[in-house]
Amino acid sequence: MRLIVTGGAGFIGSAVVRQAVEAGHQVLNVDALTYAANLSSLDPIATRSNYRFECANICDRDRISSLINEFRPDTIMHLAAESHVDRSIDGPGTFIHTNIVGTFSLLEAARAYQSSDAAPDTFLFHHVSTDEVYGSLGPTGAFSESSPYQPNSPYSASKAASDMLARAWCETYDFPVLVTNCSNNYGPYQFPEKLLPVVILAAEGRQPIPVYGDGQNVRDWLYVEDHADALLKVAQAGRSGETYLIGGNSEMSNIDLVRTVCRLFDERRPNGAPHSDLIRFVEDRPGHDRRYAVDCAKIGRELEWRPSVRLEEGLARTIDWYLSNADWIEGIRQRGFDGERLGLNTTD
Ligand code: NAD
Repeated sequence: MRLIVTGGAGFIGSAVVRQAVEAGHQVLNVDALTYAANLSSLDPIATRSNYRFECANICDRDRISSLINEFRPDTIMHLAAESHVDRSIDGPGTFIHTNIVGTFSLLEAARAYQSSDAAPDTFLFHHVSTDEVYGSLGPTGAFSESSPYQPNSPYSASKAASDMLARAWCETYDFPVLVTNCSNNYGPYQFPEKLLPVVILAAEGRQPIPVYGDGQNVRDWLYVEDHADALLKVAQAGRSGETYLIGGNSEMSNIDLVRTVCRLFDERRPNGAPHSDLIRFVEDRPGHDRRYAVDCAKIGRELEWRPSVRLEEGLARTIDWYLSNADWIEGIRQRGFDGERLGLNTTD
């Protein structure tokens, strides 16, 4: 592929870029380098001849158009977004701007390219989204590709809106789009404001481990390298106009997940009190969805994709990565991130 990845300096985007470059694809990474970006996540492939980085904002239509026209991609995989639910509660404006207006702007730049002679007939726009657009489940059942959209947070509402734009561009303009909606990702290189890196870094420093509400919120967890693998598979073999759900078949409540991390820390750092003694229940996130689960039968059936990393194995790998990559964390701390609690609507 000649692949443009937007948001390729973020958590999932950098995993996609590393895998795509390793696989020999020509990759242009377009990222605005917001607080969540980290170019050092791309160190393993940064000097490869089939990799290039451009710092650009997806809302800057002229700049994006010229990059697209010059690079001549056959695939654009769109991951650039504001992605943290807690931040979206405190300040929804940037989520509306980047996730909705930015996606609109990118779709228009890509549509102009696709209708020109420069684009190959096989051109595809792959819009990457979340299972959170479907809202919250009761104790049983799972989201499928036909589940109704019921987003509950400013983040999921902005992602739902961008999914709808992608769908409409396909229907109205015959623009070749597909959408993937994935469950919670975890793994190396995740910015330390999301649950797992927060828990890992707290456990490592023997600091209090915050758990929102009663900890009974259930998520489906997917190792980020498995998600990247699925995205590359869908980009190459998925059908335009379709939606594919991607998940890990690994449901767990937040409190059980945190206890598992604590147990894995007890094995690695056996001296002292059990790490679970550090757990503290804190004020819940407003509108906190109770349960997500994903039926990923379609991608299994059509593209023969299945998650390969079991949850406990992935957690162990993730912990070991954070323990042996203190420099990566230190780089983020030096940029002023202090890990403050967000999402109680007290900052804006
Ligand atoms: P992230 O916050 O780690 O990375 C987002 C990247 O987008 C950053 O590098 C940032 O600099 C870039 N970016 C933000 N605004 C931009 C703009 N205006 N122009 C160009 N670049 C911009 O996010 P992530 O967790 O890697 O998520 C990537 C995508 O996957 C998002 O679209 C998200 O909604 C989706 N997703 C995430 C998860 C998850 O569990 N993290 C699950 C399903 C779907």
